Amino acid sequence: MTFRSTIITLYPEMFPGPLGVSLAGRALEEKAWSLETIALREFGKGKHKNVDDTPAGGGAGMVLRADVLGEAIDSVGQDTRPRLLMSPRGRVLDQQYVRELADGPGAVIVCGRFEGVDQRVIDARGLTEVSIGDYILSGGEPAAMILLDAIVRLLPGVMGNEQSGTNESFETGLLEHPHYTRPQEWEGLGIPEILTSGNHKKIADWQREQAEKLTKERRPDLLLPNKKES
Ligand code: SAH
Repeated sequence: MTFRSTIITLYPEMFPGPLGVSLAGRALEEKAWSLETIALREFGKGKHKNVDDTPAGGGAGMVLRADVLGEAIDSVGQDTRPRLLMSPRGRVLDQQYVRELADGPGAVIVCGRFEGVDQRVIDARGLTEVSIGDYILSGGEPAAMILLDAIVRLLPGVMGNEQSGTNESFETGLLEHPHYTRPQEWEGLGIPEILTSGNHKKIADWQREQAEKLTKERRPDLLLPNKKES
């Protein structure tokens, strides 16, 4: 089954962009996922194909028009995919949410610009707001790319080594342990001896300890009981 993504954006030329190379790019070629862009400008009004206007009630910036965005969303047609709006007000993306989306049929993703979008279209088209973190981007496109990048690597068959998905930061509820590779000695620094011992049980115990230590130091919030991984 292909994960189908449809992106509604003022800047379709930004896609696939970084999603066209490496792991995601190969997965796109191999049809593990599909990407369709809908150019918001095509639904613009008047000679200048306006998509935005000044905010009701005054204030800075511009707002994407409800009618323009509504028509763009309706052009996708009805299907079972969730309709998402990239938005700093949304549910903050985490690995659990990424997994939920990756297990579904795909997503229709609306990218905001300017001050944001008319509230009526959010309500009337049932858009779920998704944030990628507590900071403000200039537009939803990079946020949509981050969302898709995180989803695509979880799709069946995408990651060469199926194992390598399960031990990562967050998947275990912990930050990941440190990694080492060649050379054995670099600038006078060696590799923790245990890793060269060949004792797999001891190595696993060490990695677990390191992960717990790091998580305690850097992200104690992840250890709270209400932050349970699925
Ligand atoms: N005025 C808005 C910010 C608008 S930023 C506010 O204060 O909440 C312009 C667009 O960038 C938004 O509509 C959204 O689509 C996108 N965007 C900005 N920051 C984002 C974030 N943290 N997560 C997801 N999308 C974001």
